[in-house]
Amino acid sequence: MGRQKYSKRMKRMESKEMKEILELASVPGLISFAGGLPAPELFPIEDLKRSAVEVMDSMGRKALQYNDPVGYGPLREWIAGRMKTVGASVEAKDILVSSGSQQGLDFAGKVFLDEGDIVLCESPSYLGAINALGAYECEFLEVPTDDDGMIVEELEKIVRANDKIKLVYVIPDFQNPTGKTWSGKRRKEFMRLANKYDLIVLEDNPYGELRYGGEGKMSLKSMDSQDRVIYLGTFSKILSPGIRIGWVCAGEEIMDMFVKVKQRSDVHTNSVSQMEVAHYLENNDIDEHISKIKALYKKRRDIMLETIDRTFPEGVVTTRPDGGLFLWLVLPENIDAKEMLKKAVAENVAYVPGGAFFPNGGKQNTMRLNFSNMKEDKIIQGIQILAEVIKKEI
Ligand code: PMP
Repeated sequence: MGRQKYSKRMKRMESKEMKEILELASVPGLISFAGGLPAPELFPIEDLKRSAVEVMDSMGRKALQYNDPVGYGPLREWIAGRMKTVGASVEAKDILVSSGSQQGLDFAGKVFLDEGDIVLCESPSYLGAINALGAYECEFLEVPTDDDGMIVEELEKIVRANDKIKLVYVIPDFQNPTGKTWSGKRRKEFMRLANKYDLIVLEDNPYGELRYGGEGKMSLKSMDSQDRVIYLGTFSKILSPGIRIGWVCAGEEIMDMFVKVKQRSDVHTNSVSQMEVAHYLENNDIDEHISKIKALYKKRRDIMLETIDRTFPEGVVTTRPDGGLFLWLVLPENIDAKEMLKKAVAENVAYVPGGAFFPNGGKQNTMRLNFSNMKEDKIIQGIQILAEVIKKEI
């Protein structure tokens, strides 16, 4: 078929970065710090199996029928209640069940973006969001960040200088890729600016529940008195990513837009999965399950950091996140982490070169390491190998 038949937006999907990362993460035997995968040994298979059977036995006809676009009522109720843990007081009507939070990102693009519109994001930011929103032919402007989050003075300068800003996309809790969390003060300042300049905020929070130390922070959504924050949540990191259940939380006007898009996109999220998750939540203690996840990931984070401290050469700086799945490393400026990856893979270790997380390019001397998916002995072994690769490169 002639190439001219494809839509213009497909041009934006030519980047192979995500595909390569997933491929690297799936080579058998490789010590991979590349993906963002949960530890599969913690999936509650028996409990979910029981839920699957009981859902089919007790409400199979409903589960297998077409259902409401907004999602399964009892699940929406549970999610609305759970939003209290991030300080947000919302009701089931404010929740749309989506196919993962990735679908929420795609829908945000569909609802808000025309060609040439501007999306502001942290620098660096989540590659999957850059790809999803980028498909709607927007431009990204990266707002500088420090250890407390997006620098609001820089944000204000950018907002004053640009009039086509449609969305500000942020991950204030255990950010992907850096693992950083915004301070409470920064969140307040940010929301003050959002109100002042009438900004729509897309708050993505897949990692907030995975806190291994320090104090929990209130979400931007909890400070949103003007319905300008769209909050995305997910069961991917606390239950299973394969089950593909996430949610969008927004005020009435924006929610109406998302529901229109949902109907036209896939009618509704898989009802069988939704009911299984709702049944699981009703009959099991998810907090107990999350504590098991946290205990294991904390151990893995600590082992990774200890091994880095012990083996990495001077001049490599790492974040020390209180939660989430990732560490972010800044290497000496002359090192190209993308080039170095080939050498690391030859030694059986993979990571994600950080350049991919800057929508406008640059910062090739950075990398993201995932600590949730490899067993402890592999983490030690992989980091020791990586240390040697880096030393040689220096
Ligand atoms: N947002 C961020 C920041 C993520 O890291 C991820 C998953 N890696 C997602 C959204 C998508 O998650 P899901 O669609 O599985 O809910």
